[in-house]
Amino acid sequence: MSEKVVIVTGGSRGIGASVSRKLGQLGYTVVVNYASNSQAADDVVSRIAAEGGKAVAVQADVALEADILKLFEEADKLGTLVGLVNNAGVVDMSQRVDEMSVERLNRIFTINVIGSFLCAREAVKRMSTKHGGAGGNIVNLASAGSKLGSPAQYVDYAASKGAIDTMTVGLALEVADENIRVNAVRPGIIDTELHASGGLPDRVAQLQSKLPMKRAGTADEVADAIIWLMSDQSSYTTGAILDVSGGRSILP
Ligand code: NAP
Repeated sequence: MSEKVVIVTGGSRGIGASVSRKLGQLGYTVVVNYASNSQAADDVVSRIAAEGGKAVAVQADVALEADILKLFEEADKLGTLVGLVNNAGVVDMSQRVDEMSVERLNRIFTINVIGSFLCAREAVKRMSTKHGGAGGNIVNLASAGSKLGSPAQYVDYAASKGAIDTMTVGLALEVADENIRVNAVRPGIIDTELHASGGLPDRVAQLQSKLPMKRAGTADEVADAIIWLMSDQSSYTTGAILDVSGGRSILP
């Protein structure tokens, strides 16, 4: 039987690393994508192998179409693509909109939005019954920021995740009768290195007491929701955006 392959973009750290490990434990062959930190990707692959699973690390910058094509070609060599977790995403330093450069905006929207679109395109081409595929699942990483707007911090990031909300709904309907389900998770404040990359290494500690559950979420808690959306247990769920925000995204 052909190997069932899932691509996790940004699968080397944070939420993506947790999803990759959980998929490995479930018997999928996991393509652990990363942009630059090969050591982190290799560590995830080794850990999956140590747990009896199969994984390969593939470098590809989702800001570059050629890299995305290469990523999917590498996945094709491993078996049949059955899933994509559109997880790679970035933030930038806190800024008001009236301070943002075009370079910053291009980077945020190219990685977070266009990268996710191009990966979804390649996944649909392989998984859709319309294209001769056998179906599959796409899970996108949205953010509570799309509802909160992230003022004076990163409205650009929040808006890029708003695009992911819309893409999730539209693509889900586009391929609903082609045996592909498309869903998203909408994390709140999750304890990963993302915040440090936006210049706020203490963001989780500082915000904790203001969050509804008085704590941040963990990468594993988001990954568990993604795993459910990837599984047959959610077989009638498509176009859904599942809040995994400890209540933050529904604050009035
Ligand atoms: P993270 O800890 O910063 O990890 C980011 C991952 O994405 C790394 O594996 C990184 O690889 C990869 N990556 C970054 N840029 C890339 C690119 N251009 N091409 C390919 N891979 C790239 O992030 P996280 O917190 O796990 O976030 C994962 C997703 O959840 C993101 O979409 C984020 O927006 C979303 N999210 C996170 C939170 C939160 O509070 N953490 C909240 C809401 C939504 P390298 O190490 O090689 O760069």
